[in-house]
Amino acid sequence: MVFPAHARLLPQLALFGLTLALTLGGILARPIESLSLFWPVNAVLAGVLLRYPRLATPLGFAGVWLAMVGADLACGSHWQPALWFNLCNLGVIVTVWLLLSRLPRAHRRMRTPHGLLCVFGACAAGAVVAASMACVMAAPWFQQSMRATWLAWFSEQFSTSVLILPALLTAPTRGALLRGGGEAIRLAPLLVLLVSLTVSIAFGGPGAITFPIAALLWCAWAYSPFLVSLLALTAGSTLIVAVAQNLMHFSVPQSVLGVSTLMSARLGIAMLVLGPLLVACVTHANRGLLTRLERQATLDHLTGALTRSAFSRRATALLDSRQAHAQAMPLTLMMLDIDHFKSINDRHGHGVGDQVLRAFARAVQEHLQEGELFARLGGEEFVVIIPGLAPERAKFTAERLRRAVQELHVTHADPRLQITVSIGLDGCAADASAPSLDVLLARADKALYRAKAQGRNRVEQAEQQRQVV
Ligand code: GH3
Ligand code: MG
Ligand code: MG
Repeated sequence: MVFPAHARLLPQLALFGLTLALTLGGILARPIESLSLFWPVNAVLAGVLLRYPRLATPLGFAGVWLAMVGADLACGSHWQPALWFNLCNLGVIVTVWLLLSRLPRAHRRMRTPHGLLCVFGACAAGAVVAASMACVMAAPWFQQSMRATWLAWFSEQFSTSVLILPALLTAPTRGALLRGGGEAIRLAPLLVLLVSLTVSIAFGGPGAITFPIAALLWCAWAYSPFLVSLLALTAGSTLIVAVAQNLMHFSVPQSVLGVSTLMSARLGIAMLVLGPLLVACVTHANRGLLTRLERQATLDHLTGALTRSAFSRRATALLDSRQAHAQAMPLTLMMLDIDHFKSINDRHGHGVGDQVLRAFARAVQEHLQEGELFARLGGEEFVVIIPGLAPERAKFTAERLRRAVQELHVTHADPRLQITVSIGLDGCAADASAPSLDVLLARADKALYRAKAQGRNRVEQAEQQRQVV
């Protein structure tokens, strides 16, 4: 597809504006004289470029660099460090993007444990590139050893990327947010996390940074990877700030050359969040797999109706619960069989036959409500159970279904194609004891046989029911 020039330029301008705003924000939040406590710009931009690949063009990357340099100059930096420092920042963004952009979408969006390990590896590689570039290019502006410069850049870039990038990569799309909105969140893991963070800071000492790990693991079990990423980001950055402010009495012996307390804490915290994030990814992947397997075992792949075995389980449970509640509820069972379906296959082909089955199932489902069972017993034979529907009203409801099928238009097929259905009914009145599922099915099947024998496209009731009504 060819986009008009302004349509291609607008996203690039938005990226430029975002970089400018993030960099200005980062510079203003930075403590005077030192490297920033966090420099989130690189990780945020790498995440945005991975989520919106259309922005990741040479022009987009050049715009990012220019915006970062422009923001630095606007804040009074000298042009030389502005050029070199921001080239190091661009090094992180390009490295992370190059390593992750070609991964399959499921890995890139951290839907798999493999994806999470790739994201960790890319963050480490980005931090190595930035630290090495900083040593070579920006050394004249640092008053510390090359080793200390390398470690400062590496620890800051690695920990910041590891905390920020997962949240951006797992963030739900707008559509998913609208679909899944209003989901209840269990509060207990979140509250325990807050308590353990507070205890960790109050207790202090090097071991204290691991205190929140148990709560984070619980969150990983209870929440989505996105929420866990946000919590890991919050917990990780809180601990880093607490160490930087010397609230946790976390100190490294002087003999460890070039390694400051903050560097050690940053690297420790980055490694600490790997465990909970991995648990969140594994749990999410397993739950998705279980849901798919359960759907396959429960729903017929062609029509979306219940499979025969799922129907048996649910119908038996329904009859048992009716029995347990002193049989107060009436119940109706209908057997439905499409008329002359074989000739539809023969005349229009198997594909159209499948379309007819899908359209038929949709039409029946539209007439059913929650709690009513609809299953495909096989081929073009279906069954419906309507709890609460008394035998005297059952024929009326079945007639409505029969008419709906007769008026059905099967899209994409021959417009003259019309289908009809024959229906056999059985059930039990309120307060009457219901026969077993097998007996109900056999009696409805007999009624269906009569409907077929009497010319099809009609509803017949089981003998026993006709006597009652
Ligand atoms: P009747 O009015 O007596 O019910 O006649 P009928 O032709 O509907 O019944 P019959 O049992 O003779 O034929 C059912 C056909 O349904 C035969 C089979 O090829 C076809 N069929 C079964 N499963 C599927 C399916 O999944 N897709 C399609 N397209 N056809 C199927
Ligand atoms: Mg049939
Ligand atoms: Mg049949």
